[in-house]
Amino acid sequence: MEIKNKHLSEVYGALAAKNASEPEFLQAVAEVFESLSPVADARPDYIKAGVFSRIVEPERFVQFRVSWVDDNGNVQVNRGYRVQFNSAIGPYKGGLRFHPSVSASVIKFLGFEQIFKNSLTTLPMGGGKGGSDFDPKGKSEGEIMRFCQSFMTELFRHIGPDTDVPAGDIGVGGREIGYLFGQYKRLTNRFEGVLTGKAIGSGGSLVRTQATGYGLLYFADEMLTDRGLGIDGKTILISGSGNVAIYACEKAQAMGGKVVAMSDSGGYVYDPEGIKLDVVKQIKEVERLRISEYAARVPGSTYTAGCRGIWSIPCDIALPCATQNEINGEEAKTLVKNGCFAVAEGANMPSTPEAVECFLANGLAYAPAKASNAGGVATSGLEMVQNSIRMSWTAPEVDEKLHGIMKNIYAAAKGAAAEYGMAGNLVAGANIAGFQKVADAMLWQGISY
Ligand code: NDP
Repeated sequence: MEIKNKHLSEVYGALAAKNASEPEFLQAVAEVFESLSPVADARPDYIKAGVFSRIVEPERFVQFRVSWVDDNGNVQVNRGYRVQFNSAIGPYKGGLRFHPSVSASVIKFLGFEQIFKNSLTTLPMGGGKGGSDFDPKGKSEGEIMRFCQSFMTELFRHIGPDTDVPAGDIGVGGREIGYLFGQYKRLTNRFEGVLTGKAIGSGGSLVRTQATGYGLLYFADEMLTDRGLGIDGKTILISGSGNVAIYACEKAQAMGGKVVAMSDSGGYVYDPEGIKLDVVKQIKEVERLRISEYAARVPGSTYTAGCRGIWSIPCDIALPCATQNEINGEEAKTLVKNGCFAVAEGANMPSTPEAVECFLANGLAYAPAKASNAGGVATSGLEMVQNSIRMSWTAPEVDEKLHGIMKNIYAAAKGAAAEYGMAGNLVAGANIAGFQKVADAMLWQGISY
């Protein structure tokens, strides 16, 4: 990876020196800065106003203690985070992740990416992210609820419908959002749109649950159609079996694709006849079991321990929908060697820089996360609109808006890449298109942050 512009390279150098223990955050900034070099060359006014040095520094970063009592009466202590990265174009917006791998670096990488993703949706949302190193796996309902209540007991003072509106992410689904919302309401005595991903009867939006996965396929379809290709009849791999993966699978199958493998952090299942999504939903959404259970229930399918092996299965299209850095350079080469011609990212930053280089060098249709997985936050934005006007749209209404937003994101990324002489490079296009709107707002608002 090379940051060609001298100013950007210096800003990155200073950031790396200050944040040496935050590899994921530095990886995310390096990737964006690499794309923004031609913008920095063309816009000395951005440099003069310190836009690049300001945009990599969060406006606010909160770290807090989350104490709770487990079912055995033992006191447990976790660490909570909220980064409020950039509010130039709207209130901070971004999910909460509960996973043992959560650290300041992971939260800052996600918050930084969120700035540009939210900007691409064209809705007025700034960038934020949060979470905890709490592991929901194996916890009882009571433990999950007590943890969420304790987490919100600190978080509530930092958020609000016009300040910062969190949502779900890994380990935070409808159940956790419910417990968080209940505690927020109890603490503030206000029933308001402070979280998205709410239950339908409590101000949630139809299609929010499906939105990231559906949006990913709308984006992939747009990208492939533009190249004279499509989803119909193609063999597809999907990593993960959580919220994004399940609804990516549902839409891929509705578009005529054949999904042959899915995974979780323990391993992957391969079903040459095509994944039976009703079985996956039962196992993951209802019974909350491991994906290995699929092979026990579906004759002809197999389970292999170790999640990374999924990328060795021959496919036309790969949809990484689990977590960051889940495809490395070697795995990318294997995908290419086996005939894969398209990669669309449902997870955030699932491909390492070496993998991205491999996809671009081999001419794959490659959809970077901040563009292709923006459907979730876009629909969260639509949930905020519905809360503000105190109305609920029908599922077809929300779905149509989501589809339109994903098409527009593709057009914006494609257009920006072409404008800066990098036609077809959606990584650069998405970074540039997302950045410019935020940079212009920062310029207009003066050195306020
Ligand atoms: P979920 O918690 O619903 O699911 C995560 C899935 O990924 C699970 O199947 C989990 O398996 C698997 N997983 C986690 N870590 C690993 C690992 N190291 N290797 C392989 N599999 C792993 O999360 P979401 O589906 O909501 O999120 C998935 C990704 O999509 C994340 O990167 C998230 O940031 C991104 N995203 C989510 C959005 C949303 O609306 N939910 C919006 C935009 C992006 P296990 O159960 O074993 O942990």
